[in-house]
Amino acid sequence: MNEKSAIKIALAGNPNSGKTSVFNALTGARQHVANFPGVTVEKRTGYRRYNEFDIQLVDLPGTYSLTAYSPDEKVARDFILDEKPDLVVNVIDSCNLERGLYLTMQLIEMGVDLIIDLNMWDEAMEAGVDIDTEKLSQLLGAPVVKTIAHREQGVEAIMQAASELLENRSQKHRHPPVSYGPKLDDVVTDLSRTVSACGSCRACGNPRWLAVKLLEGDSDVKSRYTPNRHRHGQLDRKLRQSLHHLRSTTRQDPEVAITEGRYGYIAGIIREVVKQPPSDRMELSVKIDNILTHRFWGYLIFLFFMWLVFQATFKLGAYPMDWIDAGVGWLQSLLTGILPSGVISDLITDGIIGGVGAVAVFLPNILILFMGISLLEDSGYMARAAFLMDRLMHFLGLHGKSFIPLLMGFGCNVPAIMATRTLESHRDRILTILLIPLMSCSARLPVYVLFAGAFFGAQAGNVIFSMYLLGIATAVLMARLMQKTILRSEDAPFVMELPPYRIPTYRSVLIHMWERTNIYLKKMGGIILIASVILWLLGYLPKKSDFSQDYDAQIEQLTSINTEEAAAEISRLQSLKASEELEYSFIGRLGKITLPLVRPLGFNWELGVAIITGFVAKEVVVSTLGVLYHLGDNTDSLMAVLQSPSNRISGLAAYAFMVFVLLYTPCLATVIAIKREIGAKWMWLSIVFQTALAWSAAFLIYQGGIFLGL
Ligand code: GDP
Ligand code: MG
Repeated sequence: MNEKSAIKIALAGNPNSGKTSVFNALTGARQHVANFPGVTVEKRTGYRRYNEFDIQLVDLPGTYSLTAYSPDEKVARDFILDEKPDLVVNVIDSCNLERGLYLTMQLIEMGVDLIIDLNMWDEAMEAGVDIDTEKLSQLLGAPVVKTIAHREQGVEAIMQAASELLENRSQKHRHPPVSYGPKLDDVVTDLSRTVSACGSCRACGNPRWLAVKLLEGDSDVKSRYTPNRHRHGQLDRKLRQSLHHLRSTTRQDPEVAITEGRYGYIAGIIREVVKQPPSDRMELSVKIDNILTHRFWGYLIFLFFMWLVFQATFKLGAYPMDWIDAGVGWLQSLLTGILPSGVISDLITDGIIGGVGAVAVFLPNILILFMGISLLEDSGYMARAAFLMDRLMHFLGLHGKSFIPLLMGFGCNVPAIMATRTLESHRDRILTILLIPLMSCSARLPVYVLFAGAFFGAQAGNVIFSMYLLGIATAVLMARLMQKTILRSEDAPFVMELPPYRIPTYRSVLIHMWERTNIYLKKMGGIILIASVILWLLGYLPKKSDFSQDYDAQIEQLTSINTEEAAAEISRLQSLKASEELEYSFIGRLGKITLPLVRPLGFNWELGVAIITGFVAKEVVVSTLGVLYHLGDNTDSLMAVLQSPSNRISGLAAYAFMVFVLLYTPCLATVIAIKREIGAKWMWLSIVFQTALAWSAAFLIYQGGIFLGL
């Protein structure tokens, strides 16, 4: 085959312009789409064949610009510079042409081969915006395609245009250069000549772009292409001269002047191609916005939606939960019947099914939670919530942009930590990352459902809701504290965009739910399975030979008597024996060690062990209890076992336990993500601080509750 067939195409565009939808439509992949910014934080890759081309498609993070101010802009820019894609598909929201073209200008400056994708064409039509695509194509010197990506309409035209462009490579860089107005254009042209002349800048291959970047004072580009001052003496002098000239003729900061120049050029294009400027299609939307972002009602409505989601999570989830629970119990007794009794049978029924089954039960709750979040996101409500929270965020010394990673934390802390890459200030990133683990991720939900269900009956939904509120309240306190001490704030202005309201598509909601199911199932078959087996082994070994009483002989005697009392006595003796064995095992000894630490919190040693194993992942808390109670020869459901009086966990202690699980380090993956993003020092701070916080809070709740006579 010829080398022509391997092609790399990047998707670039503003957040929320529909890039991921285009990516999915083209590759048949199922990446999550969402109606609020900051969801795609890492580039993703997919594959596709078209004609003779083998195409690798890359979904870049959404950006408005290609400076190096924020990490995701840098990811997008570095990809284009380093990986040199054959083509860039620039996805633009047709209703926001002006903002979209700002990025286009920068892509043109970089000299990449472009295809312009006017996405959300349906909304533009609805709003009565008419764009002359042929004219636009002429002005930009790039093919223009119209798509409705979430319905997969028109996307094949992108491939068509791509293959035409690729077959016609001789016509590369046909874009007319971006014009910044007469004053600037001269300076840019002049400087780019010097750049061309300067030998070592040739690596860049695009002198005009480099000239613009140097004028903008982009230090990242500068150190990339002109690392050595001495070898660029002439360029340096010329640059200083040009800057001086610009400052005196425009009386503006050159960077600002260039930005304005680009917008001026865009305004010109828009005047040419848009027949009917966007009308007041947002009128209804504005009315709704006024209510949803109201200073008082807005917050109440937000709380109500959240409350509704958690109520539904618990109440609706209870039915399928019972079915799965019954299924797991059935499987267990079936296998106990079939398998010859012995180690293997115990390992499978008590260890594997006991541990994994305990976690499997909560899948419906997780699904409902994500359905709720996904509906709120896709409809455009979450962006309103972020807008609303801007005020609250300022109070915390952050701004609205940080709200999105925090909100994502309710799903899973790991991607939320990565989503902080959209924040420009390093200090904001640190603070936000430290707060994210307090957002109660979905892995903690099984613990809440289990304990709230066992101890709080009708109030379970509200108790669960209180966990989420407590997490947020703690985050608020912590942010205030850190803002006053180790992370003093510097204020950065930020304009939050509000995307239009959209009816969520089934596809998007289902994809979101499927993604979660997939992650959950993988966890069940992976880390939870492994943890359950290890735990079971640690609970099984070493075998005890002499007991406080001769259980076997007693049981043997009783088996000959065929009364109900005798049967009850047998099962009492069996469970006494099992718990003696468990206490003797490694895990029992570990439990003994932890007991003094957790006794003041009202926990028994099983809960102590579950907290330790829970450092791996929060679902493991539940599977640990599943294994431990099965080893203890309990055949009732985990909920029933927990609430039985013989277990001696009070309602107060149960609440304290939930709070402990809420507040301490969420999981290994989160810890690793923190280290990767902001370093080991902050990671350790986070672990130590949160564990101490969790212990103190549980202590206060339990001891305080006893003191108050609860
Ligand atoms: P990204 O942030 O650029 O990756 O954008 P997404 O692909 O996540 O899309 C953002 C939202 O816009 C989602 O709710 C999509 O369902 C929706 N969307 C994508 N393309 C279109 C379109 O052509 N028309 C309409 N009406 N909605 C779209
Ligand atoms: Mg995306």
